[in-house]
Amino acid sequence: MKVVYPHMGYLNIPINHMLNSLDISYVPTPRITKRTVEIGSLHSPESVCLPYKLTLGNLLEGIDAGANCLVTICGAGKCRLGFYNTVQKISVSKVMSEPFSFYAINTSTGLFNSLYNFLRKASPRSSRITIAYSIAKAIKMLKAIDTMNDAKNYYGPRSSNPELLIDIYKTNVTKLDKCQSFKEIEHIKDQTLELMRSCADETMKPLKVGLLGEFYVVVEPYVNFEIEDTLVKLGVEVKRLVSTADWAYAQTLLRALKLYNEETEHLDGARPYMNYHVGGEGLKTASEALRCAKNGYDGIIHAYPFGCMPEVVSEYALKRITADFDLPMLALSLDEHSSGVGLTTRIEAFIDCLRRRKTQRIRKNAALL
Ligand code: SF4
Repeated sequence: MKVVYPHMGYLNIPINHMLNSLDISYVPTPRITKRTVEIGSLHSPESVCLPYKLTLGNLLEGIDAGANCLVTICGAGKCRLGFYNTVQKISVSKVMSEPFSFYAINTSTGLFNSLYNFLRKASPRSSRITIAYSIAKAIKMLKAIDTMNDAKNYYGPRSSNPELLIDIYKTNVTKLDKCQSFKEIEHIKDQTLELMRSCADETMKPLKVGLLGEFYVVVEPYVNFEIEDTLVKLGVEVKRLVSTADWAYAQTLLRALKLYNEETEHLDGARPYMNYHVGGEGLKTASEALRCAKNGYDGIIHAYPFGCMPEVVSEYALKRITADFDLPMLALSLDEHSSGVGLTTRIEAFIDCLRRRKTQRIRKNAALL
């Protein structure tokens, strides 16, 4: 059995580590390229959302590389992720002549249980404790990656050489792959943070922008054209308000302890602009936008796939929030035809507007003194 799963950000580092430690054979998930987009689009319904096409493209590329056990995720509820796996399985069966297995990790019934059951099947000789430990270690790695990314986004714009901090992040993230214990993961994370801190001047006050929206588009740099690094290079502190580690932690440990309910988690934060869960990250997007508005952010960037129903619904709430709080927003609806150059131009123009606003505000305040 050879496993393949779709690519997303740096998720491959903890997942490959977990598969290695359980002796599960896998095909390294190919990075997303133009070919992934083409192959995924070719076998997808035309109007389906971009993450569907790219995850299918990844699975098909994995099959070409010898995989015969396809693993994906399903069950967000109230959005298309709920039926991705069923439709993708049909598409794969049309192109796959060899027998294959298709496993969907179901988040609706509990990420931990579903993942654990899959790993038990894929690695029958591993003990329960070994499997539980490898899941915990993967979540720890994810957390370290997110913390290092946050640090890069914070210290980068406070440094005279933001590219250096981006390089430090990219190099050190891959070192996590070799970590055998929680302590080693913690050590690499601390070392990275220390190094980044030493390159920055914390007295600087750069523009601060919140990046929110649909999970996959916000997290996968190929799809969003490395938006976080673009902002860091422009000297802007970007706070990514979607975290793979927080999501995995909430869906496994907190949910198993009945301490987490996705529906109620963001409801209080989104009221009175949104009063219902609308699927995907729609409710979270509204609640995070409101949090940014109340906490002195200079602007927000809302990124989502073209035609994503939950984010289109939340866009209405966002328009009211940004109007009520006078908070500038850039909405980026992305699909397979989006251009990196066009996106960068829009981001640069948006940041220019934010800079001008901030300068005017500072001058006005100074005149009042
Ligand atoms: S949240 Fe939007 S883009 Fe993501 S799976 Fe659901 S409908 Fe598709």
